[in-house]
Amino acid sequence: MIDRNLLDIREKILTTAIKCGRDPATIRLIAVSKKFPVADIEKAIRAGQLLFGENYIQEAAQKKTEIGETASFHFIGHLQSNKAKLAAQIFQMIETVDRFKLAVALDKELKILGKTLDILVQVNIGQEPQKSGVLPKNAEQLIQQLIPLSNLKIRGLMTIPPYHDNPEHTRPHFQSLRILAEELQRKDYFYDNNHVELSMGMSSDYTIAIEEGATLVRIGTALFGHRQAK
Ligand SMILES: *Cc1c(COP(=O)(O)O)cnc(C)c1O
Repeated sequence: MIDRNLLDIREKILTTAIKCGRDPATIRLIAVSKKFPVADIEKAIRAGQLLFGENYIQEAAQKKTEIGETASFHFIGHLQSNKAKLAAQIFQMIETVDRFKLAVALDKELKILGKTLDILVQVNIGQEPQKSGVLPKNAEQLIQQLIPLSNLKIRGLMTIPPYHDNPEHTRPHFQSLRILAEELQRKDYFYDNNHVELSMGMSSDYTIAIEEGATLVRIGTALFGHRQAK
């Protein structure tokens, strides 16, 4: 089932990219494996999927030990500063940096480890009080604070927009994130301003996110099925 789903998703990414005039190679699929067992991740790996997203540090650490170096993991959950050390060890990218204190903690651990880490700045694009992410109006200020932290490479922006039953209603939020990224790109804030990452789009709305410029789509349910409630 997972290999079948993966084929369908890849096909959809491809056709959507071509339809809107984008190079499909600029869009990466993150298989969101939170709450799914290592056996499912291994099925996806056998089908050629090597990039995964995890939301919980301990769960990801456990999986990483079992799986080894074959796959890469992005952290896409809420990160507490006191988990920075483990996070800095496990992940290829942390997509949810949204405050200075967390960035400082990560940078400090990375210095000790002697490595750099790709990060995204998470933006609370719908300005929802219960959600993580820097408010759009504060994003530039936060990035200015992060730039001197030399072990972090700011690759782009990530968002989890407000939920709508109709995914078309999510489109304006994806557009807002892209416009914000373009403004910041013009000011040369990113590590590589020729390749700015936009992580947006999930199972229900990833084709719309691709139309609006996503370079990373995070897909769980459409690939692995429904998760058990926590
Ligand atoms: C769980 C999760 C996803 C995947 O959501 P699906 O609707 O299952 O595709 C994507 N992004 C984040 C941040 C998540 O927590």
